[in-house]
Amino acid sequence: MGSLNIENVKKSFGQVDVLKGIDLDVADGEFVVFVGPSGCGKSTLLRVIAGLEDATSGRVVIDGRDVSSTPPAKRGIAMVFQTYALYPHLTVKNNMGLGLKQAGTPAAEIDKRVAEASAMLSLEPYLQRRPAELSGGQRQRVAIGRAVVREPSLFLFDEPLSNLDAALRVNTRLEIAQLHRRLRATMIYVTHDQVEAMTLADRIVVLNGGRIEQIGAPMELYNSPANEFVAGFIGSPR
Ligand code: ADP
Ligand code: MG
Repeated sequence: MGSLNIENVKKSFGQVDVLKGIDLDVADGEFVVFVGPSGCGKSTLLRVIAGLEDATSGRVVIDGRDVSSTPPAKRGIAMVFQTYALYPHLTVKNNMGLGLKQAGTPAAEIDKRVAEASAMLSLEPYLQRRPAELSGGQRQRVAIGRAVVREPSLFLFDEPLSNLDAALRVNTRLEIAQLHRRLRATMIYVTHDQVEAMTLADRIVVLNGGRIEQIGAPMELYNSPANEFVAGFIGSPR
C-alpha cells in the first residue's frame, strides 16, 4: 500500500503550462522530497496527486489503481499544509478526530486512533486545549496528527515547517522522520530547505519550470549533480 506512479502529468492554467510532463515512480514506504524554486510547480504537483486539481493530461496511479477521476477523500491520502487551519473552537482532540467523525467512524475507534497519534507526536498533555493555547510547533503537530489518524497509505506535506522558527523546525523535522519510521507510510514532502531535503529524503526530486531536472538519493545529487541548476540547489560547491 502506498505506491505512486505519475505518468506524463501535465497541468496548464489557461495559457500557462505549469507542469510540462512529469514522470515519477515512488515505492511503497519511500520518503521522497520535492525541491525547486518558488513557482516551479511543487504545490501544483502535490495538489494533482491529492486530487485537489485535475491534471490537464497524464495519469496518477496509487497502489496500481488509476485515481485520475477518484475524489480526494477516496484516494487514501492525507495532506499537511504550511498553514495548519485548525478549528479554533474545537479542542486538540476534536480537531484531530473531526475528519473521522464526519466519515462516520465509531467514537471508540476515533478515541483509539487519536490516543495513538497523540502519543507519537507528544501531544497527550494538550488534548483538551484549544489551538489558541498552543505554540506554533504544537499546532503544526496537531495538523500532522489529524493526518495520522486517517491512517493514509500516502502522506503529502507542502512546506509544513516553513512557518516555524529554526529550533522548532529541527524538532518537528525529527518527529516527521520518526513518524515515517514508525508508520512505514509513503511520504511526499515539499521544501525549499536543503537541510530538510538532505536529512529526510530517500530520494530527492529536483523540479525546475514544471520539469524534473534530476531524481536521486541525497548523496548522489550532492556528489554528482546533473547540471549547474541541481548543483545550485543541493550539489556540493564545484
Ligand atoms: P511552487 O509550489 O513550486 O512555488 P506552484 O505549484 O504553487 O509553485 O505554482 C506554479 C505556477 O502555477 C505559478 O506560476 C503559479 O502562479 C501558477 N498557479 C498555481 N495555481 C494556480 C491557479 N489556481 N491558477 C493559475 N495559476 C496558478
Ligand atoms: Mg508551493
